[in-house]
Amino acid sequence: MFVIDRIRLDKQLSEIAQSYGTDISLRRRFFNYSLKNHEINVLTSGKGGFMEFRTKFLIGSDGPLSQVRNLSRIKSPKLLPSVQFDVASRSEEVKLYLDRTKTPEFFSWEIPHNGETEIGASGIGSLDTVASLASDRKIINKRGGIIPLGPTDLGTGNVFLTGDSAGLSKATTGGGLYAALKSSDSLSEAILTEGNILKNYRRIWYSNFGKEIKRDFMLRRLIDRFEKYYQLWIPFSTANIEGINSVGDIDYPSKLLLYILAASPLKINEIIKDIILLSDRNHNYSK
Ligand SMILES: Cc1cc2nc3c(=O)[nH]c(=O)nc-3n(C[C@H](O)[C@H](O)[C@H](O)COP(=O)(O)OP(=O)(O)OC[C@H]3O[C@@H](n4cnc5c(N)ncnc54)[C@H](O)[C@@H]3O)c2cc1C
Repeated sequence: MFVIDRIRLDKQLSEIAQSYGTDISLRRRFFNYSLKNHEINVLTSGKGGFMEFRTKFLIGSDGPLSQVRNLSRIKSPKLLPSVQFDVASRSEEVKLYLDRTKTPEFFSWEIPHNGETEIGASGIGSLDTVASLASDRKIINKRGGIIPLGPTDLGTGNVFLTGDSAGLSKATTGGGLYAALKSSDSLSEAILTEGNILKNYRRIWYSNFGKEIKRDFMLRRLIDRFEKYYQLWIPFSTANIEGINSVGDIDYPSKLLLYILAASPLKINEIIKDIILLSDRNHNYSK
C-alpha cells in the first residue's frame, strides 16, 4: 500500500503543467459559462471582480460539488459527507468497520502510516463514529470532505468532466485519486483523437478504467442490498496491509471481489444470480 502526500502531489502536477505552458490562477474561481457561436464564454470571479474569456473547451475538474457539472445540468452523483482524524498510531493494522447501525451509508476505517493513523468515516454518523474510534488517542489533525458515489455523465458538447466532478471515485472504497488521473489521461487522449471528443472520451475512459468504476458501483449496490445475508465485508475487517497487498491492486476492485469470494464461505451461486439481476436492471447506465 502507498500513502500519497496530496499537497506535494498537487504542487508537483501544477509544476509539470506550468512547464508545458499552462497558466494557473489560484486567485480566481470559475463562476459561470455560456455558449456563443460554437465557443464557450467563461466567467471567473476573484480579486478585482469578474473576468470573462472565450475558449473552445471547458473542463470541470472541480471536485464533487462541481459547478461546471451543475451548470451543465448533468446529474449529480450521491454526495457523502466524510470526516477524517489523524491520530497517534497504536497498531499497524488496516481496519474497516462495517457496522451499518453506526455508518448506515458507508463504513469507517483506520489506516496507519508513518506513526500516525487516519481514522475516517463517510455518510450519516461519520463524526460520532470517528470521534468514538479516536476516543483516548491524541488527535493531530481533523479533516473533512465529500465522497461522490455513482458515476454520472462525462460531459456535454465541448464541456467535459473528470474525477470527482463526474462521480468517478470507487463506490466501495471512496478512493478517487487514481480515477481522477486516469480520466484526465483519457480526456487528453480523446482530444487528440479524430472525431467527436465526448464520444471518444466515453469510449476511451470506459476501456481504460471506467468499466472498473462501473463494476465497483454495481458491487456497492450489491453489498448495500445483500450484505445482511452474505456479510461480504467481514473478511476485510481483519485484513492487514499484507492481506490487502496480496490481493493485488486496490485500484482494481473486481480483484478484491474475487478475494472476498475466495476468502469466505459464501453462497457463490446466489451471488452470481444477484449480480446478473442487478446488471439487467443497470442496463441503462451510460458508458
Ligand atoms: C475524507 C476523504 C478521504 C479520502 N481518501 C482517499 C484515499 O485514501 N485514496 C484516494 O484515492 N482517494 C481518497 N479520497 C478521494 C479523493 O480525495 C478524490 O477522489 C480526489 O481528490 C478527486 O480529485 P479531483 O481532482 O477530481 O477533485 P478535488 O481533489 O476535489 O479537486 C477539485 C479542485 O477544484 C477546485 N475548485 C472547486 N470549485 C472550483 C471553482 N468554482 N473554481 C476553481 N476551482 C474550483 C477545488 O478547490 C479543488 O482544488 C478521499 C476523500 C475524502 C473526502
